[in-house]
Amino acid sequence: MRAAIMRNFDLIVDQVDDPEPGPGQVVVKTLACGICGSDLHALKYAPTLIEAAKRSDSPFKMDLNRDVVMGHEFCAELVDFGPGCAAVMRPGTRVISMPVLLGPSWMEAVGYSNIAPGGYGEYMLLNEALLLEVPNGLSTAQAALT
Ligand SMILES: [Zn+2]
Repeated sequence: MRAAIMRNFDLIVDQVDDPEPGPGQVVVKTLACGICGSDLHALKYAPTLIEAAKRSDSPFKMDLNRDVVMGHEFCAELVDFGPGCAAVMRPGTRVISMPVLLGPSWMEAVGYSNIAPGGYGEYMLLNEALLLEVPNGLSTAQAALT
C-alpha cells in the first residue's frame, strides 16, 4: 500500500506491505486522518519519547530503524475480516476506533508503532471489538476528529 512514512526523522511517501489481520482484527481503508500535534512532536522528538517510555516502564516501544506509519485520528471504511471475527458489520461501513491494536498478549498504539500502521497509510488494522459505526449524518472529516 501507499503511505506517508516516518523514516529517518522525515515524512516520505512510499510503498509498504499491506497489513494482514490477525485474530479478531479487521482491515480498514483510511477515508480521512487528522494531523495531530503529537505526530509533529513524535516526528521531531521520537528518541526523547522512546527514552521517556523506557524510564517510566511503559510498554510503548518504537524502533526508529524501521518504518512507522503515523495517524491516530481517523475515519475508515471496513474492508475485510481476520480469523475469528463475528463479522457483524458489513464491508463498506464507515467506522472509528480507539487508536490501539490488540493482539493475544500485547497492545500497540496505532500510528506510533512499527506493526500497527496509522491513517497516513491507505489501510490499517483495527480490532473488530473496538469499532464504532459512524452515525448517519456525521461527515467523514468530523468523525475522524472523534
Ligand atoms: Zn492526537
